[in-house]
Amino acid sequence: MPIHVLNGFSKSLPWPPHQPIGAVCLLAETNQGLLLVDTGLGLQDYEKPTRMMRDFMNVMHAVRDPEIAIVRQVVRMGYKPEDVRHIVLTHLHLDHAGGLPDFPQAQVHAYRREYQALQHPRKILEIPYNKPDFAHGPRWHLYDLQGECWYDFDAVRLPGILPEVWLVPLPGHTSGHCGVALQTGGGWLFQCGDSVPVNLQFDFAPVLLYRPTIGPHVPRLKAFAEAHPEVRLIAGHMWLDWFEKEKTR
Ligand SMILES: [Zn+2]
Repeated sequence: MPIHVLNGFSKSLPWPPHQPIGAVCLLAETNQGLLLVDTGLGLQDYEKPTRMMRDFMNVMHAVRDPEIAIVRQVVRMGYKPEDVRHIVLTHLHLDHAGGLPDFPQAQVHAYRREYQALQHPRKILEIPYNKPDFAHGPRWHLYDLQGECWYDFDAVRLPGILPEVWLVPLPGHTSGHCGVALQTGGGWLFQCGDSVPVNLQFDFAPVLLYRPTIGPHVPRLKAFAEAHPEVRLIAGHMWLDWFEKEKTR
């Protein structure tokens, strides 16, 4: 069952300069219809942005083009928005959950700890939750750890969905931040979200420098990637030219 790699939002970081990056969203065909991992920005973020979103777009030099919204991409691929039956979120930041209102019928799977952070933010990185992303009343399915493991990570499997999909808590960026593992033909795709540096550049900077913003998992994930070539790790944000190469893989 194919997994499509889509870019849900384009921006540039202050450093390195002029290096545009995208937000990784995965669209997988499952036994229960289409499943989307992270949503990027939604139509309302382009058409009626909140103050928070406007500031975010300015700081990040965002590309202001609603055609990038995942719902538009899904339609261009020949699907209907309601074909997206499940959405799995690494976390609830505005650039990962912004497209939720474009799929109001979808079941939304998230780690309960992340939902609690949305209700009661405690860290500075728990400010960028954009309330309108959740105003339509998503059909939440919230998960706690139940003693299961994916490899040697504590994890929880989404019930009944094939190929297998696992939420793998990697807290630090936000309190309930997760990676999402999707079973592929010969192995796994592991979307690590914002627990790894942009473009999975493990050696981009000393771990201590970025640990406060992405959490403590980089050494473990780096070793895990080396030990398990059958698992393909992806960061939540990748260079734009990476998405171009993905189209020809
Ligand atoms: Zn984030």
